Amino acid sequence: MTAARPLPLRYPEDVEHLDGAARGELRVPVCGSCGEAFWPPSPVCPRDFRRDVEWTTDAGTGRVHSWVRFHKRYFEGDDVPYVVVQVRLDSGPNLTTTWTGPDDPVLGEPVTVSFREVGDGVWLPEFGPGEQA
Ligand SMILES: [Zn+2]
Repeated sequence: MTAARPLPLRYPEDVEHLDGAARGELRVPVCGSCGEAFWPPSPVCPRDFRRDVEWTTDAGTGRVHSWVRFHKRYFEGDDVPYVVVQVRLDSGPNLTTTWTGPDDPVLGEPVTVSFREVGDGVWLPEFGPGEQA
């Protein structure tokens, strides 16, 4: 039927984020010129196209921006249905991750990050309900 869910590839732009997640840190690129935090990672700032991209450890807090429930099992072993949430971080960028909450997300609901090992020492951030620190 289907293959197992593949692990994320370690593209050069993603290594800092993936290694941070394994340490329990939400690492996000920030432009050294304009200070804009952005997502997805890129070698250039999406706002001013400067190349002095730095990384910061984000507080991992934000609010639910959008969400969807998947009913189809795309990969072997996927536990359906599952919820994917788009979070707007308090620092600005939107991240799309799996949802950890026991109930459906509510638009605008405050969320905090946690981390889950998805296999082979690879960890990913995910979000669930939680008040800002
Ligand atoms: Zn910039």
